[in-house]
Amino acid sequence: MAQVETTRTRATVVALRGVSKSYRMPGGAERTVLSDIELEVHEGEFLALLGPSGSGKSTLLRIIAGLVPPSEGRVETRSVPATASQGGVAMVFQSFALFPWLTVLENVELGLRARGVPAAERRERAVRVIDMIGLDGFESAYPKELSGGMRQRVGFARALVVEPDLLLLDEAFSALDVLTAENLRRDLLELWLERKIPTRAIVDVTHSIEEAVYMADRVLVLRGDPARIVADVPIDLPHWRDKQDPAFLRHVDGLYGVLTRRRPEATAGPLGRLRAERLPQVPAGALTGFIELLDDRDGPADLYRLGEELSLDLEDLLPIVEAAELLGFARVVEGDIALTDVGRRFAEANLLDRKELFREAVEEAVPALGRILAVLRQKSNHKMPREFFQDIFERQLGAAQASRQLDVLIDWGRYAELLAYDDEVRQIYLEEEATEEQEGEAPREEGGTAPAPPDAGGGDAP
Ligand code: ADP
Ligand code: MG
Repeated sequence: MAQVETTRTRATVVALRGVSKSYRMPGGAERTVLSDIELEVHEGEFLALLGPSGSGKSTLLRIIAGLVPPSEGRVETRSVPATASQGGVAMVFQSFALFPWLTVLENVELGLRARGVPAAERRERAVRVIDMIGLDGFESAYPKELSGGMRQRVGFARALVVEPDLLLLDEAFSALDVLTAENLRRDLLELWLERKIPTRAIVDVTHSIEEAVYMADRVLVLRGDPARIVADVPIDLPHWRDKQDPAFLRHVDGLYGVLTRRRPEATAGPLGRLRAERLPQVPAGALTGFIELLDDRDGPADLYRLGEELSLDLEDLLPIVEAAELLGFARVVEGDIALTDVGRRFAEANLLDRKELFREAVEEAVPALGRILAVLRQKSNHKMPREFFQDIFERQLGAAQASRQLDVLIDWGRYAELLAYDDEVRQIYLEEEATEEQEGEAPREEGGTAPAPPDAGGGDAP
């Protein structure tokens, strides 16, 4: 029933104008997550929003929903329902919090109760939506009796029963197994395309490129730090779309390219100052395996196919690809990944030469590591508590992200044999020099956050 999206009135359901969002970090510093977002969601549009994790997709969705105020810019909503919708916004999350003591029917009715809909109408509407979303016969079941897929259907029913103007999906399919997710996507798309729901627009945050190309009229890609919209791609294929169709695959490849393209701001920061990195969280061992795997194949590999072959989701594959690109071992062009000369040499080298190549690559591409080494060299014992760097990073990234970034830096630094780390006492130290000085070192008490250098020129040593 391929219905052509003709030039229906391009009324705007919601628009963001110059929206930025900053969060205050625990240390007091501001961190800008989203910058300069211009976005319009049109009447009748199914919009998909792609981006790496942590790029601010959920934040953007909450701003669209009016749940979170932007730090700058404004959100414009046109609240004159052009259809039979009841207005407002409804959201579906990755895993829906259903009330375990309520039946399916009662869970679905809940949203209407809050809106003051009379009991009889509540029941009637809930029953209708339950039927529509494929839960017929489960009205009196309790959540624990349902499979994950069925529970997520209840989540959709709870959102749809309020007949929202705007339906927002925050990775709503990503906790489901492949087949279940596929069925639910198709069912939602059918309700949407056949106008069985009065919803005027859908915004689908997803990390599945395929899902975006399968369902959406337009795909936005969010990237960078702070994140901006770096691509706005119309998907002008008629429904139902064939995932093997070359045009479909071209869109998928193109979006892979946009998502993996190296960000210019990830390159060298100002020398001399320790700036936190935003490295992909990939251990050197995983990266090494990936490069070997690419070397085993002749010529460029299609990332999309590669992901499928390895049963890796975009979320899992992208960081590895990004790390390989960052270190100059691979390059992505139009959704195809190929090893560079250095990458190929790395794959074919022995362990020692690999470490040498890796060392050169991180020294070139990861300025923060060089800064950390410089700090360690300045200490007479060449050691520093992890907390020292953690603290600096935290002010730029927040505690959790700072810790993850340090983990990656330590892992890469260890692989390159540039530094070593003692997990028990949480000390980072230079690889070579530290061993010989180990014995002369005063025993550390645990929790001693800042052990004074033993030979700092203090006069009261015995
Ligand atoms: P995504 O959904 O793309 O994974 P999010 O929007 O959840 O990204 O988060 C983007 C960034 O903003 C993350 O680094 C996250 O830690 C940060 N963030 C999100 N919500 C808050 C908050 N309430 N306070 C501070 N930082 C936040
Ligand atoms: Mg999110």
